[in-house]
Amino acid sequence: MLSYGRQCIDEKDIKAVTDVLRSDFLTQGPAVERFEKYVAWSYGSKYAVAVNSATSALHIACMAAGLKAGDVLWTSPNTFVASANCALYCGADVDFVDIDDKTYNMDVDLLEKKLETSDKKPKIVVPVHFSGQSCDMERISQLAKKYGFMVMEDASHAVGATYKESKVGSCQYSDMTVFSFHPVKIATSAEGGMVLTNSKELYDRLLLFRSHGITRNADFMTKESDGPWYYEQIDLGYNYRMTDVLAALGQSQMEKVDIFVKRRRDLAARYGKLLADMPLRLPFQEEYGNSSWHIYVVRVDFSKVKLTKKEIFEKMKAQDIALNLHYIPVHTQPYYAGMGFKKGDFPISEKYYEEVMTLPLYYGLTDNEQEYVAEKLKEVLASG
Ligand SMILES: *Cc1c(COP(=O)(O)O)cnc(C)c1O
Repeated sequence: MLSYGRQCIDEKDIKAVTDVLRSDFLTQGPAVERFEKYVAWSYGSKYAVAVNSATSALHIACMAAGLKAGDVLWTSPNTFVASANCALYCGADVDFVDIDDKTYNMDVDLLEKKLETSDKKPKIVVPVHFSGQSCDMERISQLAKKYGFMVMEDASHAVGATYKESKVGSCQYSDMTVFSFHPVKIATSAEGGMVLTNSKELYDRLLLFRSHGITRNADFMTKESDGPWYYEQIDLGYNYRMTDVLAALGQSQMEKVDIFVKRRRDLAARYGKLLADMPLRLPFQEEYGNSSWHIYVVRVDFSKVKLTKKEIFEKMKAQDIALNLHYIPVHTQPYYAGMGFKKGDFPISEKYYEEVMTLPLYYGLTDNEQEYVAEKLKEVLASG
């Protein structure tokens, strides 16, 4: 069965892991610190904090930003639930800005309009670089200055992507950027995430919240140290630490991002040709950046295809191709409906959801497999 994404693990990755298993440290030790330094250096940020998932990374990023009850965070409805849930963990509220119908990223015109007309301004805006294509960060950062909110990029899809002159992760236009190392993403540490930032103040707070709110830094302590064993809990944090075992895997994987992303870009370009004359809308790419192609999504022209979306998924599955769908608009999830969101609130995301499907795209997908996907898709779409 071909799926929409999967990891690629080689002998070098395996050796990186077994080397740590034979070393003195299994959890947060030298491999985590090396991994953080490597990623910060590679993507052009001053600091990086590794944690056990991007979900945890989003949570401590919100905490570091001081998000609390009474505050509101805005994000895109076309994302994984974690981009929004992080605000709820802090007792804050969530609201959404609908997507641009071409890029499927947060529509910056709608963001601007909502900022102008809302009584309650957001404390944090979370642009999600959907499918690996960066949002228009320069415009978002200009709005952040004007309206006084913080910008936290959810770059879970966009490791290896560029925006204008910078790499996604440099935080040139944001306060913090979050990466995910889940196996379906560009590079994996099995589970894992990271927060990148250029702010020493945010960095110190991220370290604190990653590990129980405990510090061993005398500068932050409220009283004199009792001795070499001494530490202080000065806030309430969590155990979100990454293990050394997984950090070694993560670093070995991140060293191959350029190779991974090059192949993904080639596959995306090939899909462009293979699918060109089918009743599909192919992904639109802005000039200002270069996507990392975490996923390849197409929209079905249902005026020309006489099948339902469900029938297309079932017929493709019968051909051993597991399509996927990114995303069910977050505000339509029952939990969010319970908070008062309803169908019709973000119509562009909802219309998109009705038409979209995700095709297989990952580093190890062969040319033949990709041609098979295109061929079967053509047959299925014509079969209705
Ligand atoms: C995968 C993903 C996350 C969560 O990542 P985990 O590492 O699985 O916690 C958050 N946001 C987006 C957009 C994602 O795709």
